[in-house]
Amino acid sequence: MQTNAGLARMQSAMQEAGVDLAAIGPTANMRYLLGFAPHPDERLCLLLVSPQDTCMVVPGLNLEEVAAHADLSFFSWADADGPQVALRQALAALRMPRTLAVDGTMRADFLLRLQEAATPDHTTTVDALLTPLRLRKSAAEIAALARAAAQADRAMQAAVDACRPGVTEAEVAWVTEAAFRQDGAEEVNFTLIASGPNGAYPHHHSGERRLQTGDAIVIDIGASLAGYKSDITRMVHLGQPSPEFLKVHAAVYQANQRAMAAVRPGATCEQIDRVARGTLEAAGYGPFFTHRTGHGVGLEGHEPPWIMAGDATVLRAGMAFSIEPGVYLVGQFGVRIEDVVVVTESGVRNLTGFDHALVVKA
Ligand code: ZN
Ligand code: ZN
Repeated sequence: MQTNAGLARMQSAMQEAGVDLAAIGPTANMRYLLGFAPHPDERLCLLLVSPQDTCMVVPGLNLEEVAAHADLSFFSWADADGPQVALRQALAALRMPRTLAVDGTMRADFLLRLQEAATPDHTTTVDALLTPLRLRKSAAEIAALARAAAQADRAMQAAVDACRPGVTEAEVAWVTEAAFRQDGAEEVNFTLIASGPNGAYPHHHSGERRLQTGDAIVIDIGASLAGYKSDITRMVHLGQPSPEFLKVHAAVYQANQRAMAAVRPGATCEQIDRVARGTLEAAGYGPFFTHRTGHGVGLEGHEPPWIMAGDATVLRAGMAFSIEPGVYLVGQFGVRIEDVVVVTESGVRNLTGFDHALVVKA
C-alpha cells in the first residue's frame, strides 16, 4: 500500500479553497495521489475526493488490481450494467458537491457522465489544488527522475551509435526505442530523429529519409521509467561540419549552459528563458529560436513550470524542468541541446549526464 501524502495535502488544499469534491481520472494526477493508476480506457474510472473522504468508481475487471494498490472504498461496475449506478452511489456516499474540481486531463465523456450524476453550482479544474503540490518534487520523485534521465543517457548512446550514412531516421528511432525497452522503460514516449533539413522542424516525425554524409542530426528522445519521464536532445554530424554549423552549435550550447547557470531558488522561469534567448540574440540567431526554453518534467513529459516569457513562477528547490534552446534554419539544419535539471537549495543539479559535445562521425 502507498502512503497517500499527496492525497492528504490535496484534501487540506480543498478545505482552504472551499472545494467540496475533486474528481480524478486514471491520469498522472491519479498516479501522483495514489502512487498508482489503472489502465486508462473508455470505461469510467474516477477517484472521488472530498475534504474528509475518498472513494473510487472503478470498472469491475480492474477492481482486484486497484484494491491491491490503494486502501479506499470502491464502487465497482460491470460492463453490462454501465457506470451510472455506481457513480450515483459513490456521490451519495460523499455528499453532493456545490463546488466541483475535475481533472482537466481526463476523458471528456467521464466529465459528461459526472455532470449527469452531480449538479454543482460551480465546476473548475484541479490544477489550482494539485499544480502547487506537483511542482516541487520530493526526494523520492527526484531520485526517480534521475533514474529516468540515466536511462535516457544510455538510449542516447544507442541512437548515436546507430547513426550512419544509408540508414533511415525510422530505423534509428526503432533502435532507440528497443534500447529503452530492453532497459526496462514502461513506455517510450518519443524518438525524434530529424536529419539534415528535417532538423529545422522542432517536432519532425522520424521518417524514411536516409541519413547521408553532411547531415546534422537532431536526436530528441524520452521515455517513462516507473512513471517518471526523461527528455534529452543531442546532436550528431555525419562528416565534417561547416563553420556555420559549428557557430550555431556553439551558440546553442552557450545558451544551454548560461540558462542552466542562472537556475537557483528565487529566480523566475521567465528570467531563465531570457538568459537563453539573450545569448542566441547576441549571436545573431534570436529570430530562429522559435519556442520556449523549457517545460516541467515529472509524471508528465510536459507539465508546469513553463520556462518562457510570461511565466513568473519563482523557482523553488525540487522543481524539475528541461532547458532546451534551439536554432532552426529552414532548408538547412536545426540544432537543439536539451537537459533536464532540478532546482536545489543552492542552485541547480543537471540530471542529464550525456556529454553535450557535438558527435562527429565519419
Ligand atoms: Zn525533448
Ligand atoms: Zn523537452
